[in-house]
Amino acid sequence: MNVDRRAIIIGGSLSGLFTGVLLRSIGWQVDIYERSPHTLSSRGGGVVLQPDVVEAFAIAGISYQNLGVDAKERYYLQRDGSIQAMPMRQTLTSWNLLYNSLRRHFPDEHYHQGKRLTNLQQHDGQVTAIFADGTQATGDLLVGADGLSSTVRQILLPTYDPMYAGYVAYRGLVDERELDPETAAIMTERFVFYQFRNSHILQYVIPGKNESLVLGERRFNWVWYVNYDETTELPRILTDKNGKQRNYSIPPGMMANDLEREMRDYAQKVLVEPFQKLIAATEEPFVQAILDLGVPNMVFKRIALVGDAAFIPRPHTAASVSKAAANAIALADTLVDCDHNVLDALKTWELDQLALGMHLWKRGRDLGETSQFIYGKKRWKE
Ligand SMILES: Cc1cc2nc3c(=O)[nH]c(=O)nc-3n(C[C@H](O)[C@H](O)[C@H](O)COP(=O)(O)OP(=O)(O)OC[C@H]3O[C@@H](n4cnc5c(N)ncnc54)[C@H](O)[C@@H]3O)c2cc1C
Repeated sequence: MNVDRRAIIIGGSLSGLFTGVLLRSIGWQVDIYERSPHTLSSRGGGVVLQPDVVEAFAIAGISYQNLGVDAKERYYLQRDGSIQAMPMRQTLTSWNLLYNSLRRHFPDEHYHQGKRLTNLQQHDGQVTAIFADGTQATGDLLVGADGLSSTVRQILLPTYDPMYAGYVAYRGLVDERELDPETAAIMTERFVFYQFRNSHILQYVIPGKNESLVLGERRFNWVWYVNYDETTELPRILTDKNGKQRNYSIPPGMMANDLEREMRDYAQKVLVEPFQKLIAATEEPFVQAILDLGVPNMVFKRIALVGDAAFIPRPHTAASVSKAAANAIALADTLVDCDHNVLDALKTWELDQLALGMHLWKRGRDLGETSQFIYGKKRWKE
């Protein structure tokens, strides 16, 4: 066991928690430092449950039964009202359910909220994190699990920032009971798509507000990809109802009224009826820019980048959360037998994780460009 080994994790969302629970499972002492002073809660909803997430739960000793809602098939809706069905079993879950399950498994006394990392130092075989409140923490390993705007990445790779991919995702959630029975019958227990020129929309059912999997208490989760020009259109899309320009997303309840109206009108014009009804039933739609990010290195002596801090695959891969789990599983696997050579172990870990990140990044771009056409092609073929 590695009881004398200490890891400091920056970021207490999914990557931070996956890494935290798995390093604890191999005997490391782990402290997580999260900048938010509040309990984190979902800004979106749906996550496709992938095998890496189930594996991480199993290794950490967290129950992995009943993690989501099973869909038995895909429906591709057609403009003429017909439906192409394709059998495909998938389990769909929610960010909240995964976060709460991991958080309940990680000890409160080692999960520090309101701790914003501002700087790092590597020295004498150790690494020190420096926080905005003037406190410090020192360990054998520091994991940057601080997401798309990662401070750890900004310090170590200052020129690597997320890039706008040419389109946004409008998103929304509808309580099962709020949708008319005819539309609900099409959407329930299925992954449903409608693809049309330069755009596509999809939906699936996810656990309800209180993680409920009970029929009638769950939620429909939809995502609609729409192209916008980065210079002439995106700034308006990312301006909230108080006139504040946001970097990457507008949370539920904060979309500007005129934009929300436009989006709803556009939905009535271009979507097929079941999706028109789904959007009409959505109380607080929200929007996020689709981003690309990939880094050339994930290890810097005793510092490792994981999750969205290193690679942001496009959502079509459904891999952001599973990659976070895969990074953490591999890290624990590598460190379990490393005796005292953490540096060599991290180098070994980096090779595979870079390859995984690159693969998902490229695959996501290919999928996005095939379905969204104009902007993707322009951007990447230039
Ligand atoms: C509150 C929240 C809700 C989300 N909801 C969804 C969802 O519903 N569906 C979905 O698909 N994805 C959601 N995501 C994104 C999803 O978690 C990621 O895409 C993916 O799981 C990889 O997670 P991550 O932990 O690498 O990054 P993130 O989830 O982005 O987490 C990064 C964490 O680091 C913290 N942090 C950043 N900078 C610092 C710093 N300097 N010091 C300390 N802490 C710092 C952030 O506050 C954040 O909690 C959500 C993320 C968050 C933070």
